Amino acid sequence: MALKRIYKKDLNIASENEWEIWAYCPAHDDKHRPNLYITKDNAVGYCFGCGFTCKVLGLNANVKKVKKPKANVNWADLQDAYTVPTKGYEVNLNKLAKKFGVDISTIMKYGVGWNGSACTIPIYNELGCIIGMQRRWANGQNRVVRGSGLGIFMSSSILRAIRRPENTVLLITEGFSDATVATYLGFPVIGRISCTSSTEVITRFIGKTGITNIILIADNDDAGKIAAEKLVKKLKISLTSPLRCDIILSEKGKDLREMYEQCGYEYTKKWIQDRINLIRKLGERDG
Ligand SMILES: [Zn+2]
Repeated sequence: MALKRIYKKDLNIASENEWEIWAYCPAHDDKHRPNLYITKDNAVGYCFGCGFTCKVLGLNANVKKVKKPKANVNWADLQDAYTVPTKGYEVNLNKLAKKFGVDISTIMKYGVGWNGSACTIPIYNELGCIIGMQRRWANGQNRVVRGSGLGIFMSSSILRAIRRPENTVLLITEGFSDATVATYLGFPVIGRISCTSSTEVITRFIGKTGITNIILIADNDDAGKIAAEKLVKKLKISLTSPLRCDIILSEKGKDLREMYEQCGYEYTKKWIQDRINLIRKLGERDG
């Protein structure tokens, strides 16, 4: 049976990298998240929601012959990020959102799924490919799936910031919860898996995007501070472009999420915005 043909320009695309596209499926009421997965090398799309398959035209056949990085994780594990909302998906994502004090759409921007017992949070490399998965249970425990790459947590809203690197002050947080809080407050952010991990991917991400203004929001303890300083040092050594880096420690609580919990939306947002303005001013002064 011939595949239904559809033009790329007619798709509602959620994310795209050199190898693949995630789009909202045109064949079913695809609202919650993109379920249509398209591989560029054969231009075939498959919907994880309804089973719709299609041939995608207008892909610009000169797909780079760069080998897609392989994650050492089972495809079944990675797929958690994209599986159709099964029973419990919305309820449990809502629970997670409530716990962090954010809304469910913020959680969804991170491609979070639900595998029946845990929320599954995709870990990306600097190219936007999923290289791992973190699971997060209702009791607050979390664990990275074995074989996962030490990448970053990243939301779909980071794309806007990447397009204009010269205007962007990128926040880097430790962990998924701080990252979601920063996204909810409206800031471009990437999250490290832990305070000592993800250094390589962050370095490549910043090098690739060309962002030069960075604020690290570190955990409010010695370990957090030392780890942040280490990352700044590594970035400054590795990157050729001049980098403006600021490290800030949450004013209250042990991390950004706790500070947000105690100080509220407006105060925390202004606290970050003030530091962003400061780093921008320094940038203008330096020309
Ligand atoms: Zn579909």
